[in-house]
Amino acid sequence: MSAEANAVEGLKAVLRNIATAEAEARRARGSVELVAVTKTFDADAIRPVIETGHRSFGENRVQEAQGKWPELKAEFPDIELHLIGPLQSNKTKEAVALFDVIQSIDREKIAKEIAKEIGKQGRAPRLYVQVNTGLEPQKAGIDPREAAAFVQRCRSEHGLTIEGLMCIPPFDENPGPHFALLEKLAGEAGVEHLSMGMSGDYETAIAFGATKVRVGSAIFGHRPKPDQD
Ligand SMILES: *Cc1c(COP(=O)(O)O)cnc(C)c1O
Repeated sequence: MSAEANAVEGLKAVLRNIATAEAEARRARGSVELVAVTKTFDADAIRPVIETGHRSFGENRVQEAQGKWPELKAEFPDIELHLIGPLQSNKTKEAVALFDVIQSIDREKIAKEIAKEIGKQGRAPRLYVQVNTGLEPQKAGIDPREAAAFVQRCRSEHGLTIEGLMCIPPFDENPGPHFALLEKLAGEAGVEHLSMGMSGDYETAIAFGATKVRVGSAIFGHRPKPDQD
């Protein structure tokens, strides 16, 4: 079987598992959206998955995404591209121009830059705040104790509509408590969506209320390099 066929099989398997996890959690069928994470994979590897009708994709680096997605998006205009990696302020312009959803707002400066670019470009990606639920110093995301107030400031000071929270639990910990914390914070902040769960734990995340799961290697196979995020 070719790598492309494997990715299509991987996608189907993950979609089946999501449906099972929704049912087990007594959640409505289709209440969880799969964001297929394509970082490190090129357009040829991604295309067969697009051709099955899947439309939601995620990348963690602006520059890498610029190398493959403008052409694919021109060809398939209903694709929804999510930025799931840390955003540098000097890349905000490019990020607002390319992405349909930015999941990684985590500080005042970025919120301000995004608001400025939305005003300039007349293009408004949907927005999430990333929360560092494990308080890991090397990881992006706002301190959970400041998350609800930060969401409020995004609204009141920057005029941004925040529709969800995102987290990446510490690699070596049971993710359940982190998912539960994000769910609680979303209630406090008054946001609807929870982006949580990756290849190793998306079914658990669904049990804790995830509405977006971000799954890469379970679809596309192992990435050549380990993740530095
Ligand atoms: C790479 C990545 C994922 C997907 O990870 P897999 O373990 O391959 O499913 C999800 N979220 C973020 C933020 C990532 O960088």
